[in-house]
Amino acid sequence: MDFDYIVVGSGFGGSVSAHRLTEKGYRVGVMEMGRRWTAESLPTTNWRLRHWIWRPGIGLRGFFNIDPFRHVLIMHGCAVGGGSITYANTLLVPGEAIWRNGSWVGLADWKAEMPRHYATALRMLGVVENRIMGPADRILQRAAEEHGAGNTFYRTRVAVFQGPLGDPPGVTRPDPYFGGEGPERTTCVGCGGCMMGCRYRAKNTLDQNYLYLAEKRGAQVFAETRVVDVRPLDGSPDGSNGYEVFTVPSTLLPGGRRRFTCRGVVFAASALGTLDLLFRLKERGSLPGISGQLGNRVRTNCESLIGVRVPGSEEDLSQGIAIGSGFYLDQYTHIEATRYPAGSDAMGLLATVLTDGQPGRARIFLWLRVLAGSLLRHPIRTLRSLHPFGWARESLILLCMQTLDGHIEMRLGRPWFWPFRRVLRSQGRRIPTFIPQANNFARKVAQAIGGTPMSMVTEILFDVPGTAHILGGCAMAGSAESGVVDSRNRLFGYRNLYVCDGSVIAANLGVNPSLTICALTERAMSFIPAASEAEWH
Ligand SMILES: Cc1cc2nc3c(=O)[nH]c(=O)nc-3n(C[C@H](O)[C@H](O)[C@H](O)COP(=O)(O)OP(=O)(O)OC[C@H]3O[C@@H](n4cnc5c(N)ncnc54)[C@H](O)[C@@H]3O)c2cc1C
Ligand code: SF4
Repeated sequence: MDFDYIVVGSGFGGSVSAHRLTEKGYRVGVMEMGRRWTAESLPTTNWRLRHWIWRPGIGLRGFFNIDPFRHVLIMHGCAVGGGSITYANTLLVPGEAIWRNGSWVGLADWKAEMPRHYATALRMLGVVENRIMGPADRILQRAAEEHGAGNTFYRTRVAVFQGPLGDPPGVTRPDPYFGGEGPERTTCVGCGGCMMGCRYRAKNTLDQNYLYLAEKRGAQVFAETRVVDVRPLDGSPDGSNGYEVFTVPSTLLPGGRRRFTCRGVVFAASALGTLDLLFRLKERGSLPGISGQLGNRVRTNCESLIGVRVPGSEEDLSQGIAIGSGFYLDQYTHIEATRYPAGSDAMGLLATVLTDGQPGRARIFLWLRVLAGSLLRHPIRTLRSLHPFGWARESLILLCMQTLDGHIEMRLGRPWFWPFRRVLRSQGRRIPTFIPQANNFARKVAQAIGGTPMSMVTEILFDVPGTAHILGGCAMAGSAESGVVDSRNRLFGYRNLYVCDGSVIAANLGVNPSLTICALTERAMSFIPAASEAEWH
């Protein structure tokens, strides 16, 4: 065998798996579709689309992917280190109520088991309370107090190196996390650039912790390598003789289709990547026994991205850590103050004036009325709010998430506008395109600071909300009739096949999900014996 385990994808689930498996003595190969980035190669602004967006077919080889579906616009990462390169480093433990909802209920004593796995993940990722309150965080704090929810305001817990109390920004220190085994780190300068990748080595991305340690212990990472097929070896229907894994270059890297053999595979390609791959493997007959529940109960974390733009703002609202603070608007609705770094204004192209109303044509007319009214009342301010330049410096993005249940389905299908290729498509009941109480809150904040309340243009024109937190589709459950993996992340019907990424999450978390993905993967890996005791020896 070329490897004991092949891990598909190097994001949160993939990096935790690679580290724990190498630690147990397994030979591990990690196949990653995205590129490897360094502090020096990361772009300085997202106007450099070629180095920001991932669309290798048209020459864009960045680390940020944005995929439009009928029901939702999905943003996700694609790099060595997965979503950690572009994420906003906020790592929160969700409320215990999540274990009382969804198909994982009763599969384990989650309340008793999970705290220790969360604790391990928090330590490995170097999570601390944010010490840098930027202007956007102070605005959110004042607004939360005025809303009567000041007691729920909190500074986020972030995977960022801030150094000992009193350490100045930008100081380089030897590895502070792993007793000298990890790389040296530099203290955070609060530039707000986390979602553009940290160019200061302050953000604790996976290539600085889990994946770094895995590589140090011998894991081989194949960047720009996309897995396209996984088949049981020697015709054994349940994979007990191992697997062959086929890859192709995902960029213009030289080399063609390659074949690797291994004993087991960890699918960790993110909810979208794993769903796309598993659907193809099931339909092509490579892994026909995958549960028919595949693609059901895909969750968007009930999100809405709104904000306030203050044209000509005296304060630079982009300063701070990408998500510096949050509060609870009500029992179900959680709002975080988010920002892009000054100069990275490309996302401003998706922003427009905030509009309520029913989806469809009526909402578009309402939006035109709101736009006209705003232009009449504040012509200069509105025009300055709508052009993208200066957007990051002048905007407070409000990331709203709800714990309320709601899901869609994903299937492979042919879009009417391009019937030549089967791609993932969303179906099912529509997701609400805005959270009314969150919109009201944005309006109040705008009024208080003299800004314009904003939302995403896709919500209004196409009835499509955006999310950076797509979850589910390979739900964890008690049997193949109700889910795709068991409570230890093992794919029903096969030996040594695991799914360890956002696709196994069985409930809307209501907080950012990466910590829970890590904790669940830590748990799954804890059941795998040391290599010397593996079943194939
Ligand atoms: C802008 C932004 C900000 C975010 N901020 C936060 C935050 O503050 N906190 C938080 O908790 N979450 C945040 N998220 C979400 C977070 O990034 C994801 O939830 C998380 O990365 C999912 O982890 P994962 O293990 O499921 O997969 P990922 O981390 O997405 O990794 C999957 C990897 O698999 C690779 N891959 C896919 N298909 C294949 C294939 N066929 N072959 C080989 N490789 C493949 C992909 O390239 C990718 O690198 C943010 C996301 C975005 C886009
Ligand atoms: S705020 Fe700037 S320095 Fe700090 S972690 Fe984010 S990108 Fe790095």
